[in-house]
Amino acid sequence: MALTFKGGIRSIGFKNTALCRIEQLTPPANVFIMINDGKVSRGHKARRMPVVGIGERVFRGQVIADTLPDEEGCPLHASVSGTVADIYEDADSRTSVVIENDMKYENAPTLSSIGKKLTECSTDEIIDVVRRAGIVGLGGRGYPTYKKIKEAVGRVEFCIINCAESEPFLTSDYRTLIEKPASVLNGLKILLKALGLRSGIVAVGEDKHNAAEKLSELVGDSGMIKIRELCSKYPQGAEELIVYSLIGRALGADETPLDAGCVVFNAQTSEAIFNAFATGMPLTSRVITVDGDCVARPANLLVPIGAKISDVLAHCGGFIKTPAVIISGGPLSGRTTAENDVITPECRAVIVLSDDVAFTGRGADNEFGVCIRCGRCVSVCPMRLAPNYIATHSRMENYAATVPYGLFRCIECGCCAYVCPGRVPIVGLVRRAKEALSAGVGEEQEEGH
Ligand code: SF4
Ligand code: SF4
Repeated sequence: MALTFKGGIRSIGFKNTALCRIEQLTPPANVFIMINDGKVSRGHKARRMPVVGIGERVFRGQVIADTLPDEEGCPLHASVSGTVADIYEDADSRTSVVIENDMKYENAPTLSSIGKKLTECSTDEIIDVVRRAGIVGLGGRGYPTYKKIKEAVGRVEFCIINCAESEPFLTSDYRTLIEKPASVLNGLKILLKALGLRSGIVAVGEDKHNAAEKLSELVGDSGMIKIRELCSKYPQGAEELIVYSLIGRALGADETPLDAGCVVFNAQTSEAIFNAFATGMPLTSRVITVDGDCVARPANLLVPIGAKISDVLAHCGGFIKTPAVIISGGPLSGRTTAENDVITPECRAVIVLSDDVAFTGRGADNEFGVCIRCGRCVSVCPMRLAPNYIATHSRMENYAATVPYGLFRCIECGCCAYVCPGRVPIVGLVRRAKEALSAGVGEEQEEGH
């Protein structure tokens, strides 16, 4: 029987692109690589400064920005070859390096494989390769992968590759598994060596049974890698819920998977680690799903980091309906975006929906949403929180009062908003409260509460 957790939403579907092979994006004229997103308060985002100048020629895979000397973090690389056309800061304090694409895709001459057998590599060497390759979590959180490995060394018993991909529309991880299974498995072997573990787990959604079969064939019966099938229920891909499903351990309020002896990496992250080892190529592109009822030709695309969302949509034939919303990420957990925005490593998908397809809960501004106290959000919440109370207090700007109801345990999966008959924009209100408290707004209320 497939492994699962309590709550969540069963098989919403919409996996329209499951059979779409990964295509290369039509080369964009320019890429806009964001080197600082203006949100240093998010903790894992190091500040970086450019190490190239306007007018300089760059190769694909060349370092274009690195962390400030007193900060830990990883560098960023050019995703195309060409000329640095501009370096600018926008109104939201986001700094970007613009590269005019010469369409030659010439790789940096310094790129090379690690040049020795995995068995001869030390943990520190592996961590260094992953750091220099600028690899971050491609499951949506963007946490630097080298830091995750470093924090897990000596603390974990289970290394898990996350191939649950349970959110509607998303199939980019599935296609990666189908088209590059050996690379994903080799990435896991590198991780096991770094962590000093003898065996690891690849956790695959049961709706991807053919991918699980393919992986099982490849791993054989060595016992080094186990393939486990998870219930195709959303949000099975959340780290907290993968851990619960696999080892039956629920994480406490301030716990991470490390506290349960687990570390979880996304399937594409694992593939990126193998690529860095085998070829020296850093993280310069990722696979995304482009879908939604407005998109003329839904697809899975390999996209250079920094391509515009408008480039991605143009490749897919533009719109066949008037869009009501463009989402970066899945329709339940993603964020609204615009055609002028760019693809970052955290962007798993671009979903464009009309008013005919209702997925609620993204914004915090739907003032018409009204709670009728039905309790559905509570019963569906996989983290066992009280979403209705969080939303109510956030809407009243009584942010500190949201904390006892589990604000900081909320994984922003969007299940609550999806089932809410009152169309209360719960996730938007959760994010508003988190951002306000992170910025220090409402702390006085907490003291006096
Ligand atoms: S599902 Fe919506 S209407 Fe029902 S209790 Fe939760 S917030 Fe209120
Ligand atoms: S409160 Fe958070 S964790 Fe719970 S269902 Fe809503 S978005 Fe998901």
